[in-house]
Amino acid sequence: MTFSLTWLPGVLRNAGLKVIESAGWETRGQGDMGIVSGVLCHHTGTPGKNSGNMPTLNTLINGRPDLPGPLSQLGLGRDGTYYIIAAGRCNHAGKGKWQGITAGNSRFIGIEAENTGGKDDKPWPEIQMDAYHRGVAAILKHIGKGPEFCAGHKEYALPKGRKSDPSFDMGAFRKAVAVILAPPASGPRPTLKRGLPNDPELVKIMQEKIGVNPDGNFGPKTEAAIKAFQATNGLLPDGVVGRKTWELIDMA
Ligand SMILES: [Zn+2]
Repeated sequence: MTFSLTWLPGVLRNAGLKVIESAGWETRGQGDMGIVSGVLCHHTGTPGKNSGNMPTLNTLINGRPDLPGPLSQLGLGRDGTYYIIAAGRCNHAGKGKWQGITAGNSRFIGIEAENTGGKDDKPWPEIQMDAYHRGVAAILKHIGKGPEFCAGHKEYALPKGRKSDPSFDMGAFRKAVAVILAPPASGPRPTLKRGLPNDPELVKIMQEKIGVNPDGNFGPKTEAAIKAFQATNGLLPDGVVGRKTWELIDMA
């Protein structure tokens, strides 16, 4: 039977990520998952930094002598490709607790990222870490959860210290995921005025819009042009680029 995580490849592809579907993934799992509440981040710990992009793939699919597969829903290769392994429940979490949830395998999607976990494999490839952030963000967005519902296996696992993966800092990881989920709002533009320590980049934007040579310097010429622009648009010609003047400039 087909298990419920059939949305995984689409959600990842929509986030601009590379995806490879392993044969039979839709019906693979230790039964179906429960309500999906988050993501657990792992590293594979497979030795051999140069052993390939996703050398652990077969193990993740078929399991180990001591643990039946699948061992995670997703594998993440060194080149940032996501391997879809299973649409059902996987043996990745073990005993632990995060956000009050103790049934890790039923409630958390597992991502096993290819990394030895050792000093030889640090720092992680930028392309892989970027895909890790973006993939986790896409999954959390799909299930309507915030970055706090992404945990490292080392944070979830009990007793404390039972697991050491992943080898990166989870606080920084969640911050990066949070930025993808909610980019910092641009907010209202700051006021520009001759004599203020204006942001030259912002002055250039304004100058271009009102037809002044965009040199980033709010001098007398720019001030005169702003006053003329304000007068033409029915504003008090005070030469100060405040909220109302910015609105008109942004529309110009
Ligand atoms: Zn793990």
